[in-house]
Amino acid sequence: MLAKAKQLDADDALAHFRGRFVFADADLFYFLPNSLGRLSVATQMRMQEVVEQEWGDRLIRGWNEGWIDSPQRIGGKIAQLVGAQTDEVLLADSTSVNLFKLAVAALRARPGRAKIITDSLNFPSDIYVLQAAIDAAGGQHELVIIESQDDVYAPVESLISAIDDQTALVSLSHVLYRSGFVYDMARVTQAVHAVGALTLWDLSHSVGAMDVHLNQTGADLAVGCTYKYLNGGPGAPAFLYVRRDLQDSLHNPLAGWMGQNKPFEFGLEYRSAPGIARFLTGTPSILSLSAVEPGVDLLLEAGIEAVQAKSAKMTGFLLELWETHLAPLGFVLKSPREARLRGSHVTLGHPAGLGISLALKKEKNIIPDFRPPDNIRFAVAPLYMRYESLYLAVKALQDVVENRIYERYMTIVPKVT
Ligand SMILES: *Cc1c(COP(=O)(O)O)cnc(C)c1O
Repeated sequence: MLAKAKQLDADDALAHFRGRFVFADADLFYFLPNSLGRLSVATQMRMQEVVEQEWGDRLIRGWNEGWIDSPQRIGGKIAQLVGAQTDEVLLADSTSVNLFKLAVAALRARPGRAKIITDSLNFPSDIYVLQAAIDAAGGQHELVIIESQDDVYAPVESLISAIDDQTALVSLSHVLYRSGFVYDMARVTQAVHAVGALTLWDLSHSVGAMDVHLNQTGADLAVGCTYKYLNGGPGAPAFLYVRRDLQDSLHNPLAGWMGQNKPFEFGLEYRSAPGIARFLTGTPSILSLSAVEPGVDLLLEAGIEAVQAKSAKMTGFLLELWETHLAPLGFVLKSPREARLRGSHVTLGHPAGLGISLALKKEKNIIPDFRPPDNIRFAVAPLYMRYESLYLAVKALQDVVENRIYERYMTIVPKVT
């Protein structure tokens, strides 16, 4: 398997992108691109430029020298990664806040309908936000959470049969954060549109790793994270997508001056800006926004199709490694086996999962992540990860279990896992 890993690396057309990222600790194996992506060299340089030259030198003049348009400009680049038009995506706020804005806007645009539908494998924050959106819209809707039978596959069939003419909105994560299951966006959207409801997709675990087709599938609304596979940095602003023909009929429930038609006339009556700009609320965070752009540029340069192809190959290789080295040790696959249903991470379950993941960090210089109850996730970022690292990490995992190294770590519970 080591020879195979080396061969896959030698044949990898994206391998040279690795040199464009910062590796402060060359021996660290990092498997959390889906929690916090790596820093790129270009981002490091861009941060220096924006702090020293744009802020330091230009001061307030910076707003008219590019800052004010950056939510739309950088959003327009992200649009190219998710199959949208450049005027359909905006960078602002956090994923949770954007989800709230779009969910409330959607409920108000479908009056007289009583339901939001989601699934039990959605990210908990999304569930909280959908409930908060219901409260903000008057508390008249019910949040219907369709249960998954196995915690790996989304409950697609029962979800689709639950969609009816009382449904206002269907809100789902495109790729599930625990198992990495990928929804068929076209199929769900078609079922939602058949009853006149709206879709709201969370792309946090797909953007930058998967080839997303918002326009082609007819998706209505979407949000997503930029600090994961887009490498935008901790807490970087998120993005939102509103299909062009819906933009002028939806209203931002968090009205603020940046979404006002003419903010610098300082009128007291709010009028929504035309187009996507109405979904801005307050002043954009220029420093964080600036950190997002170089990571997006790198993905555009590589081509998102090539990125997805490598992601699928890497997770496929991980599955082979699991089957050979880890399944015999009691690791259970908690991700779909089928390539077309798999996102960019593989989840393995083991009863000693938390102890194992701590042992990997402390003893093996490997950072995987742990999600309760017993899931260890290995995410792959095609631009900066090697097949050989996957092999070495799996061998380390094997050692931790075979030699019971994890037993020393079973009683420690860290605050952030
Ligand atoms: C990471 C993630 C978020 C993060 O939301 P924040 O508002 O940035 O904290 C939301 N939803 C999903 C599905 C995620 O994976």
